[in-house]
Amino acid sequence: MNCGTVGENLARVRHRVKEVAKGLEPPPRLVAVSKTKPVAALKEAYDAGQRHFGENYSHEVLEKAPELPDDVKWHFIGHLQSNKAKALVEQVPNLWMVEAVDSIKLADRLQAATAGVLETRRKGERLKILVQIDTSGEATKSGKKTEDAAVIAQHVTAQCPALQFAGVMTIGASGDMTCFDKLVDAREAIARATGLDAASLELSMGMSNDFEEAIARGSTSIRVGSSIFGERQYRSKEEPPVAEYKEGESKSK
Ligand SMILES: *Cc1c(COP(=O)(O)O)cnc(C)c1O
Repeated sequence: MNCGTVGENLARVRHRVKEVAKGLEPPPRLVAVSKTKPVAALKEAYDAGQRHFGENYSHEVLEKAPELPDDVKWHFIGHLQSNKAKALVEQVPNLWMVEAVDSIKLADRLQAATAGVLETRRKGERLKILVQIDTSGEATKSGKKTEDAAVIAQHVTAQCPALQFAGVMTIGASGDMTCFDKLVDAREAIARATGLDAASLELSMGMSNDFEEAIARGSTSIRVGSSIFGERQYRSKEEPPVAEYKEGESKSK
């Protein structure tokens, strides 16, 4: 399923997205998740027209961002330690979205860092923020309950002028599509709490194994890695795949 070149794989994924999204306007965004992959693979995707890239580890973004053209839109999709927010924001002016915000502390750090460099960001754009929702209740997955996520969303909307609260994100339990429905419900509740229009808020859901189902349930942004870049190789046992979206900080629940 992913034994072709990056360009071929990307074409196949785009084709499937188009098939499932038939009629959806705008079509869901495809974020190419490039964690652990070399810059050469990202360049291949870039040359095939890919612009949105997702990374989980700040040291990887810091390393790769200068190697790629600056019209790339970087999504930070991992668990970001708040003490790494400043370097990430300051050194990656085309950081476009931080998808897995799960604390007011992290939002405040991102706000402070972004406020300081706002005019150097492309078109002075605010940094987009998604709040991560726990839709699976699995101990290994991060994310907030909807009520707690709503408090973070309200904080970002009211107190963080350099940030734009842009929606919600989830990982979900593998094979359990009700997680996607729960994210839709969370978006409704958070839209009510913030006074924003639910339709204006993103639903970041769907990965290689379930992006078609996620799109059918309303996903506006899918995060696809291995179907584009091939399986990830982890050195020995240092990066158990189950924790790969984290950066090592203990979960903030
Ligand atoms: C790694 C990762 C993905 C991509 O997973 P694939 O199964 O390789 O498509 C998507 N979202 C998050 C949060 C990830 O950590």
